[in-house]
Amino acid sequence: MKAIYLDYNATTPVDPLVLEKMLPYFQNHFGNAASSNHQWGWAAQSAIKNARQQVAALIGAHENEIYFTSGATESNNMAIFGLIQKIRSENKEARIHMISTQVEHESIKKALEHARDFYNIEVDFLPVNKDAIIDIEDVKKAIRPHTKLISVIWIQNEVGSIQPIEALAKLAKENKIYLHTDATQALGKIPTSLQTAAVDMLSGSAHKFYGPKGVGFLYLRAQNPKVQIQPLLWGGGQEKDLRSGTSNVPGIVGLGAAAEIAQKNLAEEKKRCQNLRDFLWSELQKEIPGVQLNGGTVRSPVNLSVTFHGHNLDLLTPYLPQLALSAGSACHSDTWTHSYVLKAIGLSKDESAQTLRFSLGRFTTQEELQEAVRIIKKALLNQ
Ligand code: PMP
Repeated sequence: MKAIYLDYNATTPVDPLVLEKMLPYFQNHFGNAASSNHQWGWAAQSAIKNARQQVAALIGAHENEIYFTSGATESNNMAIFGLIQKIRSENKEARIHMISTQVEHESIKKALEHARDFYNIEVDFLPVNKDAIIDIEDVKKAIRPHTKLISVIWIQNEVGSIQPIEALAKLAKENKIYLHTDATQALGKIPTSLQTAAVDMLSGSAHKFYGPKGVGFLYLRAQNPKVQIQPLLWGGGQEKDLRSGTSNVPGIVGLGAAAEIAQKNLAEEKKRCQNLRDFLWSELQKEIPGVQLNGGTVRSPVNLSVTFHGHNLDLLTPYLPQLALSAGSACHSDTWTHSYVLKAIGLSKDESAQTLRFSLGRFTTQEELQEAVRIIKKALLNQ
């Protein structure tokens, strides 16, 4: 039996069409996009311009609002520390308050903890309900006169909950606060139009939607309001001075091509994955007693976080070469660390150790899901 990959939230394979578009930029068109005097440089510049338009189209932005980075980790850090540095460059003593949630990816969580501990930034990590959704009223109450940023993940990466980004965008605008969203798990999965969800900053990463690893982007609103941040990387002044470093042309071309395909396939893929996801859930319920779904009803079409109450998931270990899944908690040398996300939605440490994340994608089939359930049943129930 072929191994079954159900970990698309961790990463996706590069689409063959994307790879095809990238390949010429490794050898034939290898130029540096900063070389403005010859055809090699021009070819790179024009490829980057095209990719910027493709990425902008995916979120309904203007091409001049897209800044290429090495991925969502960098984009998230750039949003937070870029803003802090901009404010502090104008007033060294400025008080800064930022609001976020207890269910962010580590690239927001740890960045904000660092900002709090080393830059003296006041940070509120707001609690969420059992479905990992924040309450807009809590956000309203948390706002202070010196609140400068609200940062909320669009789709939670472990349990798949979709946050009320539209309502948050309205609230942030009314209070003249920037809203940043980590849209890494949302792009290509659900509509992410800035026309309906008017965020000010948005992070994305190519390898989550069939593009290459090591390339992503940060969207920065250019007007109403114009987002002002400082660069974290100083140097040659690429990306309009905000992100120095020779542009990763093949990666950027891949990101652009992946964005275009994601946009084109969105409606169809969303429906297909959602049906498969619901099929998997009904099979699990039918075959295995004690299963509980995490993340509520407003969830990513590709995500299924399931707690197997009363089961020992270590029994799955011998089957893991055949079944690629993500555990709800990380097991480090025989000790389970409690996932902070599962903790925030009220799961105990034991329940978190009984939780699996299934994430589906382009190549997932119903037969694979049936086989995955069969393997899990065999491992857990010895049947
Ligand atoms: N945010 C979220 C929600 C993610 O799922 C990930 C990847 N696991 C990241 C940020 C980091 O993305 P990258 O790998 O591009 O740094």
